[in-house]
Amino acid sequence: MATKGKNTIIQTTPNDNVGIVANVNGLEKGMEVNGITAKDAIPMGHKMALCDLEIGDKVIRYGQTIGYAKTKIGKGEWVDALKMDLPQPPDLDSIPMPQPKRNTIEPLEGYTFQGFRNTDGSVGTKNVLGITTSVQCVAGMTDFVVKKIKAELLPRFPNVDDVVALNHSYGCGVAIDAPAAIIPIRTVRNLAQNPNFGGELMIIGLGCEKLQPNRLLNDSVTDASILFLQDEAFTGFSEMVEGIMQIAERHLHKLNARQRTTCPASDLVVGMQCGGSDAFSGITGNPASGFAADLIVRAGGTVFFSEVTEVRDAVHLLVPRTTDPSVAQALLNEMAWYDHYLAQGSADRSANPTPGNKRGGLSNVVEKALGSIAKSGTSPIVDVVAPGDKVRRKGLNFVATPASDFVCGTLQMAAGMNIHVFITGRGTPYGLAAVPVVKVSSNSKLGNRWFDLIDFDAGPIAEGTKTIEEAGWDLFHLILEVASGKRKVAADTLGIHNDLVLFNPAPLT
Ligand code: CA
Repeated sequence: MATKGKNTIIQTTPNDNVGIVANVNGLEKGMEVNGITAKDAIPMGHKMALCDLEIGDKVIRYGQTIGYAKTKIGKGEWVDALKMDLPQPPDLDSIPMPQPKRNTIEPLEGYTFQGFRNTDGSVGTKNVLGITTSVQCVAGMTDFVVKKIKAELLPRFPNVDDVVALNHSYGCGVAIDAPAAIIPIRTVRNLAQNPNFGGELMIIGLGCEKLQPNRLLNDSVTDASILFLQDEAFTGFSEMVEGIMQIAERHLHKLNARQRTTCPASDLVVGMQCGGSDAFSGITGNPASGFAADLIVRAGGTVFFSEVTEVRDAVHLLVPRTTDPSVAQALLNEMAWYDHYLAQGSADRSANPTPGNKRGGLSNVVEKALGSIAKSGTSPIVDVVAPGDKVRRKGLNFVATPASDFVCGTLQMAAGMNIHVFITGRGTPYGLAAVPVVKVSSNSKLGNRWFDLIDFDAGPIAEGTKTIEEAGWDLFHLILEVASGKRKVAADTLGIHNDLVLFNPAPLT
């Protein structure tokens, strides 16, 4: 695959008995590729059988079983979801625990970026005033005031990049002491402490909500202000607006005093995520991002990978990469928790993938997971972060989140990411206001069509004109440039940003 020149069929490992059609227009029936005649017309990204398969035979991609042949499949036929049975997920109780191992990563030195150093040691890649809210009731107000702050105050504070309302749907009618309520509560608290907000905490509350703002305070906050709209000191709307503006101005003064300084690449906290994946994601965008992830880890930095339902079927490949049995157990516990969560809702892992994934050639969740974990690279997994929690260790972390793009992004932001890498094959305009999102296309057909929405095209890997290593290094350099504020990502240039969406498995009242 990594050889240069035009490819038409991509086989990930020599053991694979299906190959991915790489040409943009797909294969026509009767076309010959690698000595095999296509027996069907096969669209780009879809699988062709490289040999005859009997009923019950394993269908192998990435060297792993992605399904069992449901019917006889002839060499050269299109292998789609309907022709395969879904394998059972790995049994969590029978995966062998790893032995504790020493860190043998080859260090990578000399790479830096220009970031905003915080008093708690974290580093921002942007300098943003984040306005936290304790309840959705105030969201209309914060949106109104953010516009006013941007128009009237922000021009006086040139070192501040933006003002962002951290609105969410939580706070009112919550069963505050339900065990799972801790997830949305700590998410809101940790979002406010994202490195890009510089330790300045400003909370707008209503007054009567279950989620009282003092639950959102934490030791690492250097300066906190709380304002309640129900405060009797305010008469009418304009006094409330004025009250919020005054607090914002005080925090803007302090944020404006911050300057970018040279920081080692070890201060990067990169959240890896994919969304709208296709069959190329696992052979171009995700492995190139995984290569960049390894470089960041070698430089002493932190990388997150997430999306429980997209690692569940590959967890037997991840457990051996954990540094310690306690980390392995934490990983398995997150899988078990999610199995239970899905079962409670009468769903299972087959609820993922999406119709778009399937049109892109991903037949089932096993195939999707095997491609998805490629973005974690090859580094040891040093820790597991529960949903909404903050990262504790540098290196490669599994941050447990749903696969849903904005929920995963929100939880990775709460865990402390200062830059996001997002790989897509089908295309999504995804962006976050507070953290730069580097969007990577898995195929050049998308990269070319969405030339102004995509930041990095990994498609040349499938065309054989770039290797995974070359693309990984290019992406690593791009991450440093974006983290330094020297290059704006497409979502920021265009000003398109998604809402923050909390993961709330707890009941509402
Ligand atoms: Ca996702």
